[in-house]
Amino acid sequence: MKKQTLHNLLMVSLWAFALTSCSKEEIITPVEPASTIEESPTINSRSALPQNVVGNIHWNISENHVHDFSFRRSTAVTPSECGDTPFDAVTSYYNDALINGFLENWDYNFDAIDVILGDYFTINQIAAQIENINTDTFGANGEYTNFMKQQVRSLEKFWDMPNLISVRGQHTATLQDLSFIRYVYENYSSATPQEIDYLISIAQHYNDSSDQIPENPFYAVDGFATSTGVIVIGDGLVSMLAETGLDPQVVWSGILAHEWSHQIQFQNRAHWTYPVPPFIGIPESTRMTELEADFFTGYYLTHKRGGTYNWKRVEAMLSSFYNIGDCGFQNPSHHGTPDQRLEAARQGYLQASAVQKKGHLPDAQTIHNAFIMTLPSIVGE
Ligand SMILES: [Zn+2]
Repeated sequence: MKKQTLHNLLMVSLWAFALTSCSKEEIITPVEPASTIEESPTINSRSALPQNVVGNIHWNISENHVHDFSFRRSTAVTPSECGDTPFDAVTSYYNDALINGFLENWDYNFDAIDVILGDYFTINQIAAQIENINTDTFGANGEYTNFMKQQVRSLEKFWDMPNLISVRGQHTATLQDLSFIRYVYENYSSATPQEIDYLISIAQHYNDSSDQIPENPFYAVDGFATSTGVIVIGDGLVSMLAETGLDPQVVWSGILAHEWSHQIQFQNRAHWTYPVPPFIGIPESTRMTELEADFFTGYYLTHKRGGTYNWKRVEAMLSSFYNIGDCGFQNPSHHGTPDQRLEAARQGYLQASAVQKKGHLPDAQTIHNAFIMTLPSIVGE
């Protein structure tokens, strides 16, 4: 029994979670059991394991969106391959805690994998983007709510975008609400009422028995912007970045400024000129729009009438922020390398330094034009 437990532990550990920046066109590689485990005679139920945790919920974020941060499962990623940044250490810790928190309470019911390691992430995306549940606070205890309201007002004023964007929080505590989980199954799955009762019993078991479910920060780790004017920022994304020693307020500001930049792009995409079309899902296009969002972020955060941060603080935060995707991205040109992204933000900062001396606030079109002029040097072409 002990041996089988160990093997099962190894199998489930394959669903190691890795935080990554990703976009809608990215394909998540199906999970393949490792060959050594496949050959084990003790794993009689291995064939019952899903190739990928697809869950029970039929829903995806709308097509027109930029999903900068989410969780992803991979067999290929280990902490050593992800690099050796403080953020890797933090995410590895919480990844292990989440998997162990699941295994310690696992009764070998494979349906639980779909619920706890699949549906829970989708349910919290639906809560934030569609159902608007618990989205008007920021921080696990609402401790950044007032700060974020100030930040939104500042961005609205700076970019002359009053009341256009809905900025929403995402919290692990939402997953403690079994009636909401039931609502999602009723409206976003094909489960029968009896099946829903069964799925809810699974949710209740883990919520009651594990101190990681749903409290683990990976359950609230989304960062995305949709063309319908919604921005979602999860507590877990900010708290894990802050745990590396960064000022949480700078982290909130930086992620918000980046996602807001995508909203500026969505608003202007019909008449802005780009070297390649934006948001068409090819690497060159994605890299360009991401680097532009980084340029706008560096510009806004350091502008004296914007974020008012000095560049050194912004640079420290963005360096961690841009390294998140390192281990997830096999194609380095996809979002831009961390160096390209930091250079884009630095060029935005230099732009802010140059224009603010003139005393007026240029419009987004002017900043877009400045970015397009700078893009070849940022990507080294
Ligand atoms: Zn982005």
